[in-house]
This record gives sequence, structure tokens and C-alpha cells, in this order.
Amino acid sequence: MVSQNQPPKQDNPKRQWSLRDFEIGKPLGKGKFGRVYVAREVKSKYIVALKVIFKEQIEKYRMHHQLRREMEIQTSLQHPNILRLYGWFHDDERIFLILEYAHNGELYNELRKKGHLTEKQAATYILSLTKALAYCHEKHVIHRDIKPENLLLDHEGRLKIADFGWSVQSKSKRNTMCGTLDYLAPEMVANKEHDFAVDNWTLGILCYEFLYGSPPFEAESQVDTFKRILRIDLNFPSAPTVSSDAKNLISRLLVKESSRRLSLQKIMEHPWILKNADPTDVCNK
Ligand code: AMP
Repeated sequence: MVSQNQPPKQDNPKRQWSLRDFEIGKPLGKGKFGRVYVAREVKSKYIVALKVIFKEQIEKYRMHHQLRREMEIQTSLQHPNILRLYGWFHDDERIFLILEYAHNGELYNELRKKGHLTEKQAATYILSLTKALAYCHEKHVIHRDIKPENLLLDHEGRLKIADFGWSVQSKSKRNTMCGTLDYLAPEMVANKEHDFAVDNWTLGILCYEFLYGSPPFEAESQVDTFKRILRIDLNFPSAPTVSSDAKNLISRLLVKESSRRLSLQKIMEHPWILKNADPTDVCNK
């Protein structure tokens, strides 16, 4: 059960949290830098996810400054489709991040369980992501490294972007695919300058993956994926059946010339989104 109480707001921004403020529950997962537990704030009974990061690991990978900057960015982002970071504290060995709890876990697991998603569900997730990215871009935050394992679902099934910029440094948790290469825009693969339009590219990749079950440029080796991305070697398999509107949206996002990719505003107005997406962000069909 998710507590209906208010989140552990920092009514006093100087408020110092400590481990004594939380009852720790079951582990939710393990990342490169530590573990994540469900936890309950003692006073409000509010349920959160507590991410425990070992300082030794951060020092080993020299991530200190990057982690601090990303924590500050995430704290300032307040949007229904971005996982909240309510606060943090530390002891001698560990840093604790107080995160919004995503009750339904990784979207990636849902995708693997179902094989592929319905057009309604895929469009709902793409609209949620587009709204969250538009909000980020407005705040000049770009390249959120969106990939399925960084997308979590709350108790209602609402999508939440949960990544930090530094998660690009972490080893991919998926071994069936070629690391993070599948989600990279051609300009990033080619090590060229890139801007916010890399996020629009990734929306095209995710839209394809939601509907077909695997990303469009998947290949046996990283080198082959690399080549397919640079050639925009895009095919639409005959099964599962996908509407021509969806294929149109994907084709207008997976465009080599970044300035010609559909804008976030145009994605929100695309006929496939208007026809299929649930504007409340919640669609379990
Ligand atoms: P990470 O260290 O961020 O890669 O997290 C490891 C795993 O813990 C993730 O893959 C999720 O399954 C789980 N997890 C992380 N954050 C949360 C959260 N806020 N709510 C629920 N599960 C989470």
C-alpha cells in the first residue's frame, strides 16, 4: 500500500535527514553504486525509495562532482513524469538519496513480460515521456539518457523518468542487448556535437521498442548496431501489426539530420498520439 500522506517535504530546506528518520523495508534492486530499499519516513509514514550509494565507489570512479550536480538537477525537477528526489543525507561511508517510490518497478520488466505493448499503452508512455522532456528542455536540461531500464512505473502505472546523467557510466544491466548503443543518436555514435534533438531520436527508438519488443537497430555486435544507426537501417517487421500512424511517427523521429526530427510539440500533436494516448498518463490496456 502506498501511503496517502504528504511526501517528506523539506519544509525547512536546511532540514537534516538521517537514517533514524526511516524504517527500512525490502530491497528493490541493485545498481552499480549501491542498493535501493523501500523505506518509510517514521513521522509522516510516507513510503519512499532509499538509494544507498557507497562513497568508496563514487571516489573510485571519480564521480563526486557529477553526482552532486545531477542530484541538484533532479531535486529541482518537479514534474509528474519525473521521479522526485526529495532530499539526501550521508554518513561516513554512504550517501542516501530519498527518492519517490515507483511501486510498479521498471517499465523494462513489463515490456519483457508482455513482449510488446498495445498502441494505446505505447502512445500513453510516449506522451508522458514527451511532456517530461519538454519540461526538461524548458529548464535547459538535455540528454536524460532515457532507456527502458531508467523508466519506472508508479502505483497507478504512470511513467517516471528515473535516471541521473551519471547512469551512462554504469554498466548496462541488460546482457541481451548491446549496452547503451541501441539508444544513441547517429551524431552521438559518430562523436559529433549534439543537442536536445538526441532526446527526440531516443523517443523514436523507444516508440519502436514498445511496439515491436526490441529496438530497431539491434544487431549481433556493437559494431553492427553502430553501422545500422549510421545508415538509419530501419525496417518494420510484418508482425506484430503496427498502424501506419505509429510507423509515420517513428520514421519522422529516426531522421539523421537532427534539426529535421519532429519537435516535442509536434509529437504531442501527432495523429497517432491524439488517437491513442491517454492524457491522464495512465493506461493499463
Ligand atoms: P539503480 O541503482 O538506480 O540502477 O536502481 C537499481 C534498481 O532498483 C532499479 O533497476 C529498480 O528496479 C530499483 N529502483 C530504483 N529506484 C527505485 C524507485 N525509486 N522505486 C522503485 N524501485 C526503484
